[in-house]
Amino acid sequence: MGIRTGQEYLDSIKVRNKVEIYVMGKEVKDVTTNPFLKPSVLAFKATFDSAWDEDTKDLARVWSPFINEEVNRFNHIHRSPEDLAAKVKLLRKISHKVGACFQRCVGYDALNTLYIITELMAQHGKTEPKEKFIEYLKTVQKKDLALAGAMTDAKGVRTLKPHEQPNKNAYVRITEVTKDGIYVSGAKANITGVAASEEIVVLPTRAMGPEDQDYAVAFSIPTDTEGIKIIVGRQLNDARRLEGGEIDALPYFYNHEGLVIFDNVFVPMERVFLMRDWQYTSQLVEIFSAYHRQGYGGCKAGLGDVIIGATYNLAKQIGVEKAPHVQDKINEEIFLTETMYAAGIAASLNGIEVCPGCWWVNPMQANVTKHLVTRFPSQITQLAIDIAGGILGTAPSEWDLKNPKIKELLAKYLQGVEGYTAEDRIRMVRLLENVALGVAFQIESVHGAGSPAAQRIMFSRLYNLSYAEEVAKRLAGMKSNVKFTKKVEPWKESETEKLAKEAEKNTVTASGGK
Ligand code: SF4
Repeated sequence: MGIRTGQEYLDSIKVRNKVEIYVMGKEVKDVTTNPFLKPSVLAFKATFDSAWDEDTKDLARVWSPFINEEVNRFNHIHRSPEDLAAKVKLLRKISHKVGACFQRCVGYDALNTLYIITELMAQHGKTEPKEKFIEYLKTVQKKDLALAGAMTDAKGVRTLKPHEQPNKNAYVRITEVTKDGIYVSGAKANITGVAASEEIVVLPTRAMGPEDQDYAVAFSIPTDTEGIKIIVGRQLNDARRLEGGEIDALPYFYNHEGLVIFDNVFVPMERVFLMRDWQYTSQLVEIFSAYHRQGYGGCKAGLGDVIIGATYNLAKQIGVEKAPHVQDKINEEIFLTETMYAAGIAASLNGIEVCPGCWWVNPMQANVTKHLVTRFPSQITQLAIDIAGGILGTAPSEWDLKNPKIKELLAKYLQGVEGYTAEDRIRMVRLLENVALGVAFQIESVHGAGSPAAQRIMFSRLYNLSYAEEVAKRLAGMKSNVKFTKKVEPWKESETEKLAKEAEKNTVTASGGK
């Protein structure tokens, strides 16, 4: 059963007995029917539907050599650069169907991260984590489980390391180790889609030193586990979902983020993939963040398409779509959207095989992708606001449109070009408002997968400034040490590539050379 239907997914998350999930102060038992969470569950479900829909199933289904079956791509381990590109394409397509974040990619990226890290650990002589991880991966693929990835810790005082924090649980940590497993406490913040997931894959959020070893922990746990508490965050316009309307909350899909508290949670040993292995945390963070930054080139470009379409339609509704300045602004939206996508595809097709069968994205281009995404969505939105007009912030509600005393008046005064109704106008305005100004396109684009400063740190780590300087000195006729090689880009090796090279050397030495 490598590929489940959307309905099978819904059935599997309906009954929760142990986890506590809170929305606006009230405990939620059934996330599939709760009006606040249902749109988020439906967005998550779209990832399951993608394996059955005619227009996406070729992208969403992929052969797994681990279970010798087709699996849903969201639980797949990338086997090639084309696989990485297929991820970006699938994400763009699903964005067209939901107009929101569909939340399953964090778990997808966490799986691929653990695959590389445990493989590199094995190559350095520590084989157990890999054996445990492969068994877990097979279960996830066979059951087509819905994973959430949990990385960002609560973090407490930002200038202090985990062990220096006044609150010892500001980062998730191991509190006890027994022969059967570990106990963990702490909290992960802003965890995308967690209440709609079946499993949580927990990863450390930062590079750690030996003194932080209790915090260097990676594991998986069923979401419905004793001691896990999820507090779902609020979003712009979220109460509209509770109104029972059919226009003001458009689109009918949303994402959610939650604070996940681990209150002395027991994790069986077979689910623990990193236990005090602080030496691998820096590479783990680098691998995961690059994977997720690459993905943004797909999902945010897909949301860009929705916004371009909505902008164009609103321009047509008022008869300005052929005005040169409107066409120019729409062209600018297209340019910004396609640039994000192009960067995500480049990061994929220039991916790196960091160990046999381990395909990682190109780290420089993945970071560039995400950095574009921290800027371009707000520019796209600005252009959309410009064309849509002030009505984007002043439109009457659907309830006005349905009030018999005023609906004729609204029909008369909100109509522009004949053939479009007042309801058409309000529908498109609401869609644009909620997609362009919502969390997924604005806030997540800036802070998801790491804030802008995190990418700039990576630029300075990965770019070989000295090489570029020597190139310039040579052309300026100054004394230069430049050594030209076949390598084109002035990029340095990432931490992950260094670790992979070291592992390769170990293998060659152990086998007496290839
Ligand atoms: Fe997937 Fe994009 Fe949402 Fe991340 S932000 S989980 S890549 S849809």
